[in-house]
Amino acid sequence: MAVHAHPDDESSKGAGTTARYAAEGNRVRVVTLTGGERGDILNPAMDVPGVRDRMSEVRREEMAEAARILGVEHEWLGFVDSGLPEGDPLPPVPEGSFAAIPLDGPVEALVRSIREFRPHVVTTYDENGGYPHPDHIRCHEVTMAAYEAAADPDRYPDAGEPWEVLKVYYNHGFIRKRLLLFQEEYERRGEEFPMADWLKKWKTEQGDLMARVTTQVTCSDYFPQRDDALRAHATQIDPNGSFFAVPLDIQQKVWPTEEFELAKTRVTTSIPESDLFAGVEESGRR
Ligand SMILES: [Zn+2]
Repeated sequence: MAVHAHPDDESSKGAGTTARYAAEGNRVRVVTLTGGERGDILNPAMDVPGVRDRMSEVRREEMAEAARILGVEHEWLGFVDSGLPEGDPLPPVPEGSFAAIPLDGPVEALVRSIREFRPHVVTTYDENGGYPHPDHIRCHEVTMAAYEAAADPDRYPDAGEPWEVLKVYYNHGFIRKRLLLFQEEYERRGEEFPMADWLKKWKTEQGDLMARVTTQVTCSDYFPQRDDALRAHATQIDPNGSFFAVPLDIQQKVWPTEEFELAKTRVTTSIPESDLFAGVEESGRR
C-alpha cells in the first residue's frame, strides 16, 4: 500500500516500484488522502476553459488513468487539499482542509483501509514530508499513527479486524548523488546537462538524503510506465518540465533504482535491502 497526499504523488514518488510489484503479481493499492482540489494548473497547454472550472473532476479522471497505467488499485480517502501556502510569514492553511482538521478522522479512515486491504508493506513520506507541503507532513503523521492503531484492537473497533502491517517505508526521491551522476554522464557525452541550474541551487547543507536510504529497489524497466502515469496528470505536469529532461536511457543506465528508508518493521531484515518485502516471507506472516 502506497499512501500519498495528492493525486500525482503516486506517479512521482516510488512509481516504478509500485508498477514493478504489481507486474510481479502482488496486489498494490495507492491510497490518496486528498482530492488535489487546490493544485494549480502547471501545464500551460491545459490552462483552458473547461478544465479550471471542473478541476476536481479532471483530477479524478487523471488519477484513474495513472492507476490504470501503473497497474494498481486506487482508493480516495476524500480529504480536502490544503494547497501550498506561500508568503512570509506563511498564511494558515484553509479551514477544513486536510492539514487543518484533527488527526483522528484521517487516521480512522486509513486504519479502515489498512484493515480491509491488509497490506504487508506501507510506504509514506518522512517527517519533513519529503517536500515541505503541509499535506505531505500530515500524510506522514497519519500513516505512522495508523500503522500503530490498525494493529490495536482497542483503537477504532468499528473500523474492521486488527491488522499488523509488517513494514513501513519512507519514499526518498531527492537524491543529490543521482543528479551528480547524470551530470557526469552528460559531461562524458560532451553535452550540456539540462538540470545544471537545479543542481547548483540544491543546498548541500540540507544533507544528502542518501544517508537515510536503507533500501534500493531496481525498477528501471518500469520507468516508461512511471513517466506515462505522471503525464496522465496532464494539468499538473508540464511535459517539457525538468522531470522529463533526462532521457530514459540515461536514467536506466546511471540510476536504475528507487530509494526508500525502512522506518518501522515487525520482521527481521538486514540493511541494505533491495526488496520492500525482504524478511516478510521468512517471518511466516505472508
Ligand atoms: Zn503532493
